[in-house]
Amino acid sequence: MEMPVLPASSPPDWERLLNTVSPSRLQCWTQCRLKFYFRYVAKIEKPPSPALHVGKVAHAVLQAWNWARWRGLATDKLEAVFLEQWDEHRETKIDWEGQEEQERASTWALLKTFFAQTSIQDRPEAVEVSVEAQLPGSIQLVGIIDLVRAGGRIVDFKTTSKTPSDTMSEHQHEIQLCCYALLYRDATGKKESGMELHYLVRLKTPKLALIGLPPMNERQEARLHRIIHSYREGLQQRDFVPSSGFGCAGCEYFAECRRWDGKESHG
Ligand code: SF4
Repeated sequence: MEMPVLPASSPPDWERLLNTVSPSRLQCWTQCRLKFYFRYVAKIEKPPSPALHVGKVAHAVLQAWNWARWRGLATDKLEAVFLEQWDEHRETKIDWEGQEEQERASTWALLKTFFAQTSIQDRPEAVEVSVEAQLPGSIQLVGIIDLVRAGGRIVDFKTTSKTPSDTMSEHQHEIQLCCYALLYRDATGKKESGMELHYLVRLKTPKLALIGLPPMNERQEARLHRIIHSYREGLQQRDFVPSSGFGCAGCEYFAECRRWDGKESHG
């Protein structure tokens, strides 16, 4: 298949893409292969959307909260962490449409709601742990797990503007959670006791939603291995095609996608 045209300064790292896989790359691959191409092969950088910035900042503050609890330290400096994180990427020119102050205030309100209402009170088993596992077919799975609660419950934090549903959440995040389960089992030699999605829901009155899931079952594990196989086959064939759908409305590569001529060039 014809190779894509790329800037000379940004060659694709095919070896790394083929020999390692992460939950975020797999997720992007299953959403849209052309988007994957723009993001990971052509490496076209885009400023984060306001929602992405909010999610990153919230994640960083929750990380600081988890680290403090893990070390047995006070958690009273989190607003300073929040303000620092909020300003960290100021040069990336986020298009706030004049709403930055409101967004900042509502994000801090959301985090305060989380700290006041969360059911997570136990000392963590692990925080932001970077793990890797060698899978069949000489491919390495790499990932960072937000939090492992006492007893081996894998936790991931999400920010969202809508109240999530159990079935759809499990479906949408199955790849990510099953990757974490594989990584946890490989690192510890134990099966996780369950998985939890903790949602920070950005409504006028912020709220939390917790979706608890059982350990990964055999069918889910088989699905994940099949997806990883498809990822590798598709990459080897340079099979980058668009998957048009509802997700296109928020796609940062919409302009590049509309210019795509079927020859895998982002022109
Ligand atoms: S606009 Fe849609 S089809 Fe095009 S790259 Fe983005 S997600 Fe894929």
